[in-house]
Amino acid sequence: MGWAIALHGGAGDIPRSLPLERREPRKAALRHCLQIGVDALNSHRSPLDVVELVVRELENNPHFNAGVGSVLTSNGTVEMEACIMDGNTKRCGAVSGLSTVKNAISLARLVMEKTPHIYLGFDGAEAFAREQGIETVDSSHFITPENIERLKQAKEANRVQIDYTQPIKKVGDKIPVPDGDSQIGTVGCVAVDGLGNLATATSTGGLVNKMVGRIGDTPIIGAGTYANNLCAVSATGRGEAIIRGTVARDVAALMEYKGLSLNDAATYVVEGAPSGTTGLIAVSAKGEVTMPFNTTGMFRACASEDGYTEVGIWPGELRE
Ligand code: ASP
Repeated sequence: MGWAIALHGGAGDIPRSLPLERREPRKAALRHCLQIGVDALNSHRSPLDVVELVVRELENNPHFNAGVGSVLTSNGTVEMEACIMDGNTKRCGAVSGLSTVKNAISLARLVMEKTPHIYLGFDGAEAFAREQGIETVDSSHFITPENIERLKQAKEANRVQIDYTQPIKKVGDKIPVPDGDSQIGTVGCVAVDGLGNLATATSTGGLVNKMVGRIGDTPIIGAGTYANNLCAVSATGRGEAIIRGTVARDVAALMEYKGLSLNDAATYVVEGAPSGTTGLIAVSAKGEVTMPFNTTGMFRACASEDGYTEVGIWPGELRE
């Protein structure tokens, strides 16, 4: 039994026509972040430290829908959310409605470690961030021209968007979002060390054109994020479906109550979820890793101590 790690950069309807210049930077970022996680595990950092470290790196990358790449609400504002959980102790922390915190995942960890609570949102979470002295920036830092354009296109199509489908094109658009890139993905990381200690972390800007105040699956323990002493899970996709399906907890419950393997449990849950809504990454205490999805694609990467590495977007991509 050795360590294992997996990360995702969002699941959705990602067309295979996604241009090379849009897919390669994300795959490169996944490879880079995977390496950071692998190095940290090899240096015997705790899985909790590793998932926070990797998710911070993904939050700082504008190619993903978290941190600086966060998508916008229907009011053109940013409301980021994140969750972190330690498997053995089931300690966890979650945050929602952040508009100035540079790394939401680190605030979630502070909620876990420095408060008697699990979940802080909106003004209270922002006030806690200031009290803790965590890095904050003006909310304009998160509002990128690409995400203004994504919001515009979602409004024109009158939809709350998660998929990567063809955006509506308008003549004269100054900052066109390239074809097949109308949305970008939530991020997550799960890790287990050689002793079977497990942790998970997920961070997101939510859905393009979401209502102000909407909370998705990411910060909901047992929906988008869950870990216990058997497995660690981070989900991505249509948040409302993932909450209804208690996706992350169901994987753990099938292992716990039915004795299913990690892969069987995760596959069962994802296949049972409404088609096109759900993807997840998971690792087990035994060092297994699985990354099923029922969407067209999921930006994902994994590695294990025995030398296995995979980085992919669509089904059936081979190991590196
Ligand atoms: N699950 C996220 C949400 O609904 C979106 C995503 O995974 O891309 O907020």
